[in-house]
Amino acid sequence: MRRKLVAGNWKMHGSLTENEALLSGLLAGMGSVKAGVAVCVPFPYLAQAQAKLTGSSIAWGAQNVSQQVKGAFTGEVSASMLNDFACTYVIVGHSERRAIYGESDTLVAEKFAAAQAAGLTPILCVGESLEERESGITETVVARQMDAVIAKCGVASLAKSVVAYEPVWAIGTGKTASPEQAQAVHAFIRAKVRALDAAVAENLIIQYGGSMKAANAAELLGQPDIDGGLIGGAALVADEFLAICRAA
Ligand code: PEP
Repeated sequence: MRRKLVAGNWKMHGSLTENEALLSGLLAGMGSVKAGVAVCVPFPYLAQAQAKLTGSSIAWGAQNVSQQVKGAFTGEVSASMLNDFACTYVIVGHSERRAIYGESDTLVAEKFAAAQAAGLTPILCVGESLEERESGITETVVARQMDAVIAKCGVASLAKSVVAYEPVWAIGTGKTASPEQAQAVHAFIRAKVRALDAAVAENLIIQYGGSMKAANAAELLGQPDIDGGLIGGAALVADEFLAICRAA
């Protein structure tokens, strides 16, 4: 039985003061949450997350990682640096990184590998644009994104990862995939992995991301292959995020 996992992606939001209030609010409300919970914060706030969340049931992580181990890579942050702050998770291949910063499937696979080599659990984001959905190539796109990681790291590597299906057209737009639309892609991802390794597929946590909020979480999370959420905007409001965590 897969345990549900809800992860907040704070993106480039927050301040020391705002984070203090948000994390305090989350900690205060965790008593009624049975799902796994994590927050992926901007790099400068990892020390704050670690100090605040150590000993709690909320895990923390980052939103990006370098594919390089160390060296002359100005502005990059390595996986071992994330380990210095006891991160559990790191998001790789978020659509904003793919679209705005030009991250290719190959680079995302390299980041996935670097994260795992350091013992971090990558949250691998996959998902199609609106144009791709309307062209009927959603499965082709998602399969290509998954295949890049499987080709580099092997299907067994997925056992120590989380996959987040995030239709690009639903991220930050207020448009959510219907539970049926999301379930169909989640089932496709699981079937694809199952064809290579049934045990990995059964245990793989596949989160949905894209305008998930308290009002639509229960219906999405009630689908058989939706094992949690990767939450952007709604992760910045403690009560809203906690309501999603409770729904999970
Ligand atoms: C995200 O950025 O991963 C995301 C799902 O954002 P939002 O919930 O705001 O759509």
